[in-house]
Amino acid sequence: MSLESLISNTIRSDVRAIKSYHVPDASGFVKLDAMENPYELPAALRQELGERLAAVALNRYPPSYDALRHKVAAKLGVPAGYEVLLGNGSDELISILAAACAHQERRAVMMAPVPAFVMFQRSAQGAGMDFVGVAVKDDFSLDLPAMLAAIAEHQPALLFLAYPNNPTGNLFDADTMVEIIRAMGDKGLVVVDEAYEPFAQQSFMSRLPEFDNLIVMRTLSKLGLAGIRLGYMSAAPALLEQFEKVRPPYNVNVMTQAAAEFALDHLDILNGQAALLREQRAALSAALAALPDVTVFPSAANFITIRVADADTTHTNLLARKILVKNLSKMHSVLTNCLRITVSTPEENAAFLDALKASMAV
Ligand code: PMP
Repeated sequence: MSLESLISNTIRSDVRAIKSYHVPDASGFVKLDAMENPYELPAALRQELGERLAAVALNRYPPSYDALRHKVAAKLGVPAGYEVLLGNGSDELISILAAACAHQERRAVMMAPVPAFVMFQRSAQGAGMDFVGVAVKDDFSLDLPAMLAAIAEHQPALLFLAYPNNPTGNLFDADTMVEIIRAMGDKGLVVVDEAYEPFAQQSFMSRLPEFDNLIVMRTLSKLGLAGIRLGYMSAAPALLEQFEKVRPPYNVNVMTQAAAEFALDHLDILNGQAALLREQRAALSAALAALPDVTVFPSAANFITIRVADADTTHTNLLARKILVKNLSKMHSVLTNCLRITVSTPEENAAFLDALKASMAV
């Protein structure tokens, strides 16, 4: 038996054609590529968390996550009468939405302004949906006429708007988003992905009651808990009920449940870290803007997108200096020569700036 024919007889051709999601080995690097919070919980709290986790029963399947669900809703600004559905990171929630909206009768469409978070397209593909990307303008703002035309043409079942957008860092104009939500009407769901909300402090969460077709999705990842993998989304209860049917059972494991409950009891600490990172974003943006040959795009997230003269060379030179940032240059034409840098501690930001100056001088 040939493994090659086995694979071509069984695995979908579109899956065979793609590459798997690559997580680069970051050991020994200053890691500024994945929008993580560089700060840990304070040592005393980590000790206390360790004791909590030691008491968690590992032999049983996770119990219902209702206690955590209610705590998330109560502490994170979910409007009265609305609940949340939890996922193994918001990555899983994106897949759950795609699984719920992919039709069997006809190929359903997922749409997003592009460049966008790569998991939108990957999840569409995984679920057998078509993905239609509508290019943003050169200043990364939404191209409303193009979006409205694409909505009319493709009638997407799902439309993602990351607010702020990754990898561009900007907040789309809220009134333009509302026009898109209205244009989708009862034909399509609009997911406002607020992964970077702690750094933007702008949200559609309180506007859920205004729009039946609105879903607001967030994560604890950027707030400092990327390792535990917890995402949440809220929408009209009748919609959440539908998504619940395709949520894998036990998708939020016992360690994640316990750690998230603990962290939410200390939300002030995580919010304090986010406030520090917002200050460091302002400092790093100003330092970058002072460099010749660097264009800094406005950011409402915990990363900054810049344009340099030659992103590929600068990226290679940064890697040689043990600095890991994301090279966006090949992702989309509006991102030519762009790099994305996660905002970190003053020390790591300074190390990056020094390495950038040296990398561009080469
Ligand atoms: N949405 C956006 C816009 C993101 O940038 C990311 C992470 N890079 C995610 C969702 C996924 O976050 P999580 O860690 O919750 O899976």
